[in-house]
Amino acid sequence: MDYEQKRLKLAERLREELNLSERVYSAIKKVPRHLFVPEKYRSDAYVDTPLPIGYGQTISAPHMVAIMCELLELREGEKVLEIGTGCGYHAAVTAEIIGKSGIVVSIERIPELAEMAKQNLSALGYDNVFVIVGDGSLGYAEKAPYDKIYVTASAPDVPEPLIEQLRTGGKMIIPIGETYQYLYVIEKKNGIRKKSWGAVRFVLLYGKHGFRNFEE
Ligand code: SAM
Repeated sequence: MDYEQKRLKLAERLREELNLSERVYSAIKKVPRHLFVPEKYRSDAYVDTPLPIGYGQTISAPHMVAIMCELLELREGEKVLEIGTGCGYHAAVTAEIIGKSGIVVSIERIPELAEMAKQNLSALGYDNVFVIVGDGSLGYAEKAPYDKIYVTASAPDVPEPLIEQLRTGGKMIIPIGETYQYLYVIEKKNGIRKKSWGAVRFVLLYGKHGFRNFEE
């Protein structure tokens, strides 16, 4: 079976199991995940599992990417902040959903991964994704406010700068916890509403509002 057939099968399975919307299903069906993973893992790219991408980090499992996209209720033209670019796969799926009129600002703390993500994204023509090297626990105030924010590494709590940089009416998805982690949906309306979605497993968020500083 070639990559395209495997990807279609995976997208169809996720659509059925997770009751995916058409826009999330189409994005998972379109983005070539095998081009975001190291060569030796390519044959497993359409198995629904996280895979190593180097530097002790992982590419998220497709079902987790799909669930986070659904929970965020992404819409055409939105401005989205991602914390934890990794290899750029989740950012590409988000970019597919929000279209060319939207933008994704994505922050990665490991320069080598940020470079890999930039190359992966530009090779596939995702020119509305801006990858920045830095501490994503501080957000990226220069382009705030954001319609949507998602964090792909587990935090001790919701970083205050991310709440500030979310527009009123906006939504954030963030895993919280160290040994036991839960995915939270944060809504900023008249104050902040925080609702748990369920247990998850992510790498840890480092940085000022993370578990440790980069240097430690
Ligand atoms: N978004 C990725 C994908 O497409 O599959 C998954 C990323 S991986 C699960 C989490 C990433 O968060 C890692 O690459 C890690 O280096 C990064 N990270 C951890 N703490 C960070 C921080 N404070 N700022 C930016 N990136 C951070």
